[in-house]
Amino acid sequence: MQYQAPVDDMMFLVKDVFSLSQRLGDIADFSDFDDELYAAILEEAGKFATGVLQPINRSGDEEGCQYDDGVVTTPKGFKEAYQAYVEGGWQSITADPNYGGQGLPKALHVLIEEMFYSANTSFCLYGSLTGGATKLLEAHADEATKEKYLPNLISGQWSGSMCLTEAHAGSDLGLLKTKAEPRDDGSYSLEGSKIFITGGEHDMAENIIHLVLARLPDAPAGPKGISLFLVPKFLVNDDGSLGDRNGIRCGSIEHKMGIKASSTCVMNMDDAQGWLIGPPHRGLACMFTMMNLERLSIGIQGIGLGEMSFQQADTYARERLQGKASDGEAPAPLIKHGDVQRMLNTMESFNKAGRALAVWLGSYLDVAFHSKDKDAIKVADIMSAWLTPIAKAYFTDAGYETCTIGQQVFGGHGYVREWGMEQHVRDCRIAQIYEGTNGIQALDLVGRKLIGSKGEQLQVFLSEVNADLDTMPDSARKGQVAEHLKELEVLSNSIMSQSAANADLPQLIACDYLHYAALVTYSYLWLKMEVAAGGELDEKSDFFFKRVLPRTLGLKASIENEL
Ligand SMILES: Cc1cc2nc3c(=O)[nH]c(=O)nc-3n(C[C@H](O)[C@H](O)[C@H](O)COP(=O)(O)OP(=O)(O)OC[C@H]3O[C@@H](n4cnc5c(N)ncnc54)[C@H](O)[C@@H]3O)c2cc1C
Repeated sequence: MQYQAPVDDMMFLVKDVFSLSQRLGDIADFSDFDDELYAAILEEAGKFATGVLQPINRSGDEEGCQYDDGVVTTPKGFKEAYQAYVEGGWQSITADPNYGGQGLPKALHVLIEEMFYSANTSFCLYGSLTGGATKLLEAHADEATKEKYLPNLISGQWSGSMCLTEAHAGSDLGLLKTKAEPRDDGSYSLEGSKIFITGGEHDMAENIIHLVLARLPDAPAGPKGISLFLVPKFLVNDDGSLGDRNGIRCGSIEHKMGIKASSTCVMNMDDAQGWLIGPPHRGLACMFTMMNLERLSIGIQGIGLGEMSFQQADTYARERLQGKASDGEAPAPLIKHGDVQRMLNTMESFNKAGRALAVWLGSYLDVAFHSKDKDAIKVADIMSAWLTPIAKAYFTDAGYETCTIGQQVFGGHGYVREWGMEQHVRDCRIAQIYEGTNGIQALDLVGRKLIGSKGEQLQVFLSEVNADLDTMPDSARKGQVAEHLKELEVLSNSIMSQSAANADLPQLIACDYLHYAALVTYSYLWLKMEVAAGGELDEKSDFFFKRVLPRTLGLKASIENEL
C-alpha cells in the first residue's frame, strides 16, 4: 500500500495547534519563513517519501547490506535514492546557512523525519546520523574545522557516524577503552574497536566523518576521561580535496532483526588520524549535543513506523470482510467491529499525540538554539532536557505497540511477509534499544532530570503547561488534564522525598514513571488539539481520554507500591 503523507494533519499542528510562525516569529533566523513555505516543503517531502523512499523499502529489507573485505554495499536503489536525497536538499533542512544549510526550524524537520521514517526507516538513519554530526560540529568545532567539514556534511555529499559503543561499553560509556595518542602535528592517533556503528561504512557518500569517543593518555578513569575526535574515512586536504585512506575500517556488519538496509558496523581503528573536538576529557558532554537530537530522531522512528502501520491497518480494515456487524451486515468490513475500532483508535491515539509532542519539543529546541532572549533560552533548555527522554522512550514504546497492533489488525496476514506489517514490527524494535535504551532514558528522567534538578525541571514543565491551560476555555476535559498534572506533581514529590532514604527507588519505578509522565503530557496535547480543532477531533480525543489515559491508574498504583 502506498504511504499517504499526512500533510494536512501536520499543517494542522504547524498552523492551528502550535502557530509556529508566531511562536518562532521573534527569532531573527526564522523571520523569512511562513506557513505557506512550511506547507510547500511538507508537500515535497511527502512526494519524496512516496516516490523515492518507499519503493525501495521492502526490497532493501529483503536484500540487506552486504559486506566484502571492508566494503559495505547498500541494497539496490539506495545509492540512487541517496543521490536524489542530496540533490533535493533534504540533508540540509535545519543546518546553519553560513555553511550551506537552509536554517529551517527543527519543529518542521521532525515532520519531515516522520515521513521519511514511515517510508523507509533504514534509509532515514544514514541522514539522521549525519544531521547529528553536523549539529555537533556546529556547536563544538573551531572555525577552521567547521569550514573544512560542514559544507559537505550539510549537503550530504559526506555522511556522519557516531562511534561510542564498544563490546564491553554500551550503556556504561565510562568503560570505553579506545585510545588517542597525541601526534607531533597536533592531531591524534586512535587505536581501538567500536561495535554497532550505524552507517560506519557504506557506498552512498564520498567520505564518512566519524565522531569517535576515546581516551587521552592522561585521562581519568570513567566518564570524565572521555574525549571526542573527528576521524574521517578519507583524510581531507587543506584545499578540501580527498586525500589518503585513513586507518579506520569496517571489520564486519551485523545480521539483525530489522533495519536490514542500515549498515551496523564493527569499526576498527589502527593508527587512525583524528582531531580533538571540544576540550580534552569533555567528549561526553559535547556528544550530548548530538545525542539529544539523535534521541528525538530515534523517537520519531517510532512515530513514523506507527503511522505507516496505522495507514495500512486502516485501509485493510475497510476492505477485508469477516463476521457479522452489529447492524446485521455480513460479511462486514473489519472496521465495523468494535474490537478492530479499538485497535485502530489506540494506534491513532499514540501517533497523533506523539507527533504533537515532537513538534512541541522541536519548537523548544529552536528557541534554545536560535533565540537571543536569555530567559526564553533557559526555559527552552529545561523543557528540551525534560521532554527528550520522554519523547525517545515513549514514542518508541508506543510505536512498537502500535506496530504490533497494526500487525494484529491483519490477523495471520500480518504475521506473514506479504503485506509488510511484520517488517514494521522488526524495524521498530531497535528504536527501544539504541540511542540509550528506554530503561536508561527512564533513569535519566527520574535520576538526573527530576531528582537531579530537585524538581526544578518538572516545575518548569508544569508552569509552561498550566500557563497554556489558562488560555483555554473551561471544560470537564480541561479539569481532567489539570487533575492529572496535579497528580504527577504529588507523585513526583513523593518520589523525590523518598529517594533520599531509598537509593534503589529510581531504578524500581523509572520506566513506570516515564510512561505515566508521557501519558499526562499526551492528555495535555490531546486537549490542545481538541481545542484547536473546534470540535472536529472530539471523538478521537474521547477515545484517548476514555481508553488510553486510564493506563495512568495502573502505573500510579505500581509506583506507589514501591513508595
Ligand atoms: C542496530 C544497532 C545500531 C546501533 N547504532 C549505534 C551507533 O550508531 N553508534 C553507537 O555508538 N552505538 C550504536 N548502537 C549501540 C546501542 O546504542 C547500544 O546497544 C545500547 O546503548 C545498549 O548498550 P548495550 O547493547 O551494551 O546493552 P547494555 O548496556 O549491556 O544493557 C543491557 C540491558 O541492561 C540495562 N542496563 C544497563 N545499564 C543499566 C543501569 N545502569 N541501570 C539499569 N539498567 C541498565 C539496559 O537498559 C538494557 O536493558 C547500536 C546498536 C544496535 C543494535
